[in-house]
This record gives sequence, C-alpha cells and structure tokens, in this order.
Amino acid sequence: MKIAIVGAGLTGLSCAMELRDYNPTIFECCDVGGLLSYCDRGYRIEKFYHHFFRWDEDLLDLIKRLGLSSRVVWKVTRTGFMINGKVHPLNTPIEILRYPHLSLFDKLKLAIFTLKSRGRDYTFYDDVGVLDGIRDELGERLLNNFFMPLLKAKFGENYDKVSYAWLLARVAIRSNRKLRGEELGYLKGGFWQLVERMAEGVEVIKKRVDNVGYLNGKFYIRGTEFDAVVWTAPLPLLDKKIAEMLELPKINYQSSICALLGCKESFSDLYWINVDNAIFGAIIEHTNFMPFEDYGEHLIYLASYTTPEGDLFKMSERDLANLYLKEFERLGMDRRKVRWIKVFKARYSAPIYETGYLKKIVPYRTKLKGFYLAGMFSKPNYPERSMNGSVKAGIEVARVLKEDFGLS
Ligand SMILES: Cc1cc2nc3c(=O)[nH]c(=O)nc-3n(C[C@H](O)[C@H](O)[C@H](O)COP(=O)(O)OP(=O)(O)OC[C@H]3O[C@@H](n4cnc5c(N)ncnc54)[C@H](O)[C@@H]3O)c2cc1C
Repeated sequence: MKIAIVGAGLTGLSCAMELRDYNPTIFECCDVGGLLSYCDRGYRIEKFYHHFFRWDEDLLDLIKRLGLSSRVVWKVTRTGFMINGKVHPLNTPIEILRYPHLSLFDKLKLAIFTLKSRGRDYTFYDDVGVLDGIRDELGERLLNNFFMPLLKAKFGENYDKVSYAWLLARVAIRSNRKLRGEELGYLKGGFWQLVERMAEGVEVIKKRVDNVGYLNGKFYIRGTEFDAVVWTAPLPLLDKKIAEMLELPKINYQSSICALLGCKESFSDLYWINVDNAIFGAIIEHTNFMPFEDYGEHLIYLASYTTPEGDLFKMSERDLANLYLKEFERLGMDRRKVRWIKVFKARYSAPIYETGYLKKIVPYRTKLKGFYLAGMFSKPNYPERSMNGSVKAGIEVARVLKEDFGLS
C-alpha cells in the first residue's frame, strides 16, 4: 500500500504520524511545518504569531504524546484596541467600563450577546452577511465602533463578505475569558519542537506537486505510483484536472502578511492590540506573552490579512518592510528602537468564511476513490483555522483512509 501526502504542515504531519505503519511519503515544496515554520535569529521564532487555547484537545494530546507537556506555558494575556492612535486596554471590567467609544448600554448589549452566544445554533445564519447580522441584532453603533475594526483586522478587504454564522461561532468559542484577560498557551522555546518531533522518521521529499496523474484507480506523483493520496495543501493549488473531477465548490482564500520586528524597547504592555485604520490590523507583542529573557530582545508582529490578488500582497518583502515601519512610526513606535524587521507572506493562509460557507466545507472522502482532502478547509478548522483543527483533520482523514482500505 503506497500513500502520498501533499504538504508537511500540521495536517500532513499528523496524518503521516497516524499512517506511520504504512510509510507514507510526504511531498513538501517549502518549509516543513508550513504556517508554523520558524525564523532563525540565534533563537527560533515562528514567522507568523501562534498560541493555543485550553480547549485545543487534539493539539494538547499530541503535545503530551510527543513528550512535550513540560514545555507548555499558560499565560493570561492582555489585549486592547487602538483607535485614532490611542491604545485602550480592554481586559478587566474596569477597563471595559472606561472604554470611551461605546455607551454603557452598548457594553451591556455586548456582554449579553457574548453570554448568549454559547449554545446558539449558528448554522441558521450561514446565508446572512456579518454586517447585516450585527446591525439587526446589535445596532449600527456596535457595528461601527466595535465589530468593524475587528472584522477588518481579521479579514482585510474581505471583511464584508463573511457570514454572520462565522461571527456567532467564533464569539462562542472565544467567550471563555478569565476576568483579567484571555488565557493562552505556548511551547516554551517555540513550536519548532512540535514540528520536529512530528516529522521524526517520516519520509519528506522536498518537491512541489503541480500535477497528480490518475489512471485505472492509481495516482502518479513525480513518476511514482500511489494507491492513495491525501492533499493537505491549499485547494487553489490542487491540479486543475483533479479539481474538476472532484467537482469542488469554489472556496476563496485570504492571504497573510506578518512583519516580525526585533526591538530594543517594548511598544506597550499588551500582548495583542487591534488597530483601526492602519495597513496592519494587529500589533502582537510576543515578548509580552513569553519572557523577554528567552530572546534577549522585544519581538513584535505587525499582522495584516489581505487578498492573494491585492496590491499589498504583490509588494516585495523589502517594500512591505519599509511601508510597515513607516506605519508603525505613525502609530507611535520610535523607529530607532527597531533593530531589524523581516516580512513573511502566506498566499493562501485561510479560507474566507463567506456567506454560505458551511455548505462548502469539504469532506475528507472525494468522488475519486483513494483521493482525500484535509486541511484548513476541513470541518475541524471551522469557525477558525487553528493548529488544533489541522491536527484533528490530519488524524481524522488518516482514519477514514484506513477504514476505506481495510487497514488496522
Ligand atoms: C498569520 C497566522 C497566524 C496564525 N495563528 C494561529 C494561532 O495563534 N493559533 C492557532 O491555533 N493557529 C494559528 N494559525 C493557523 C495555523 O497556523 C494553521 O491552521 C495550521 O498551521 C495549518 O496547517 P495545515 O497543515 O493545514 O496548512 P499549512 O501549514 O498551510 O501546510 C500546507 C503545506 O503544504 C505545502 N504545499 C503547498 N502547496 C504545495 C504543493 N503544490 N506541493 C507540495 N507542498 C505544498 C506548504 O508549503 C505547507 O507546508 C495561524 C495562521 C496564520 C496564517
């Protein structure tokens, strides 16, 4: 039984671990770890900011199985909103009460909406646009002064295409906050440790897969015959002929750009600041989450979400670095305190959870026997693509494949 897995991100690696007895071959065009890969500065730091949550059961179970539990650190993190250049911390009830851009009535409405979100059937709202949904339920002020900056930070120019079902599902999973802020987890030293252990003993061929041949029930990748293929890379990169045979729904993706800065000084005491009206939607200060001493400098991500076809994504890393530095300076950062900056781009970093998205979620089995799809477009990655969702998708697709081929 010969199995190929395309993509060595968390989905591909967790699938390979589950199929280890059958020696699957992974094809990976870039870095093992995918979106979780790192940048080496003498220490290792993720190219894109990452943390996990208490309810990420599959990820935490995997960390345990790989003997990494002692590296897990939990911290209550502090977040805020930057509006017109001023940062408003929004963690404790007092900070929320002091926030000037919402009335007390709106804050109460928001609190009730958050409490009500758990246990609500969000699927009913799949065809409702997020802006209409918020406007109808919470009113124009909450839409403009609270949700709009968050939606823009999360989806860039696609913010108005998102479904209200997504927002309700997302509020439900993120409403489990402590009184002082949100508790987040990290692997002390970095997620590369997880990726490295997952990849141990797995055959990874560092080649891009552009074509998948199919003849008489067999698949052909780079001249080798396979009985089964698990595709975990973004769907727009799937071989067009195979995609046509599978009759897949069109899933639009967003892109991510993260500038990572090494700084002499901290920008604020918050981990996460959502920024209104800027080129990047969030300022994420990693060293307000993990200790400065682990790195010897302050690490700050400036994160944007955009479209693969957009002008911002098309810019070179160098031009983006200049643009982001200029913008960060406008928002109050002293440029002389920035030691270095590196820009990382991911063309297809997540599906856009557009109206009608729930009907498009792609099952693991496809119309082509032996060809499987799992990744950010799979059910465990709704309403939010996550490390946990990708680990779970990898495990689940491997189980489905084993069942189909009668493997134990
Ligand atoms: C900016 C950002 C921040 C995030 N922060 C968090 C967070 O804080 N917490 C959290 O839980 N999750 C976070 N995530 C999500 C998390 O990173 C992903 O859900 C997860 O890593 C995706 O894993 P994957 O294997 O499904 O996809 P990917 O990591 O995208 O892996 C797919 C792999 O396929 C490879 N590939 C693509 N095309 C081909 C081809 N043709 N041939 C061969 N190989 C190919 C790619 O190089 C890649 O390695 C974040 C994502 C982004 C973009």
